[in-house]
Order: sequence, then structure tokens, then C-alpha cells
Amino acid sequence: MTIKEAQLIVDQWIRQYGVRYFSELTNMACLTEEVGELARVIARKYGDQSFKTGEPTDPADEMADVLWVLLCLANQTGVDLTEALKKNLEKKTKRDATRHINNEKLRVKN
Ligand SMILES: [Mg+2]
Repeated sequence: MTIKEAQLIVDQWIRQYGVRYFSELTNMACLTEEVGELARVIARKYGDQSFKTGEPTDPADEMADVLWVLLCLANQTGVDLTEALKKNLEKKTKRDATRHINNEKLRVKN
């Protein structure tokens, strides 16, 4: 699935099952909420926290929740995420072409 297809699928889903998009501000709050849920799983799976019984444990599902809301926000604000990502990659490459390579802190320590 391409990013463009993902934006289209989410838009079709919203029209068929969601009635309409939540407002941009509501979805911004939902995005923050989903990022928090992802952080919770990561903290328990890779960090020092432990899972409570019955608590979600799948980071992939939480990442998909984050992506879902981001796709909604892109659709309702007219953002083509394929183009945005391409431009962003160009920006990062131009800006950071040698930055990380020259960062001593990123070198493996034995
Ligand atoms: Mg979630």
C-alpha cells in the first residue's frame, strides 16, 4: 500500500463508517492520545515498566493508530503526505548529510 492509497482508504472508510471527520482540533488531541498509548507500550516492552493484566502490548497496533489519525489530519487539511515526505527527506538530507556521520556519540563503543 502506498501512502497515497492509505490516504484514500482512510478517506473512504471515514465516508462509509465514520459519518465525517472529527474536527482538526479533536483529531490533534486524538493524535496526542495515540502517541501516548504508543509510549505506554514502548515503556513497558522496551523500558523498565511492566504490563498490567489485559493491557495492550502490541506496538504495531498503536503505531497504526498513530498513522490512522495522522492520515485523517492530512486528508482534512489537504496535505499530500507522499509529497510532504519527499520534501522532508530532501530537507533532512541537505541539512544532515554529514551531521550524524561526524557525530562521535553515535559511534559504537566496545
Ligand atoms: Mg491506540
